[in-house]
Amino acid sequence: MFESKQLNSRDLWTACALSGKLLRDPIVSDYKGRLYNKESILEYLLTPEKFGASQRAKVTYITGIKDIVELKITRESKSQTWICPLTEKDIVKESASQRFVYIAECGHLMTEKAIRQMTMVDNAKDHGNGTANGSSAESSLNHGDRDNKKEYCPVCDTEYIPVNLVTVNPSIPELVKKNEDRMKLLAELGLTHSLKPKKKKEKEKKKQKSSTEKKRKSLTTSDDVPAKKTKVPVDT
Ligand SMILES: [Zn+2]
Repeated sequence: MFESKQLNSRDLWTACALSGKLLRDPIVSDYKGRLYNKESILEYLLTPEKFGASQRAKVTYITGIKDIVELKITRESKSQTWICPLTEKDIVKESASQRFVYIAECGHLMTEKAIRQMTMVDNAKDHGNGTANGSSAESSLNHGDRDNKKEYCPVCDTEYIPVNLVTVNPSIPELVKKNEDRMKLLAELGLTHSLKPKKKKEKEKKKQKSSTEKKRKSLTTSDDVPAKKTKVPVDT
């Protein structure tokens, strides 16, 4: 299953998608699977004005650290190049012909094919009864049986569900859409990319709504207002 054309430009794997600086630890990723220096994202969150409009436009959906996941990248001991913990192949080199994913639950980055194969084998022997006691989010993540089944990270044994395998730097529309679909699903559940609950934006909205409702009411309940000279202020 080799892709015939170049999947990724090398830059995507070596430079921060926000600052353009060389990637260096700690490295984080958003739900789209882009790679960033955590430092740049933090700088952006604290002082967005330091970044140009086009840079800011790229990351408008990153509003807090819950919107990113810190990656755990395996290194080759001598060269320090990124390698897949399962195949031990050079990730940046292989990115032209292989897909790489990370597990949103723990951040481990690996070859998609290897993890998929591995979990298929794993299912047969242990952790077989994976779907037994799912969390509420998990049972709501109904993406078909296979993607909804509990698995374990082969590196750190953290539980994850396959829908949370995020493709890094997806280059074909189907994979871009897959990441987008996952995020939509999470948003519906009030969760962020890192699977932590979203902030109280909803409440804020509700508050706003109720206050506008009140406003509206105060403009419409003319019953208990003295009948004669009630002129509603127009400017509110
Ligand atoms: Zn892991």
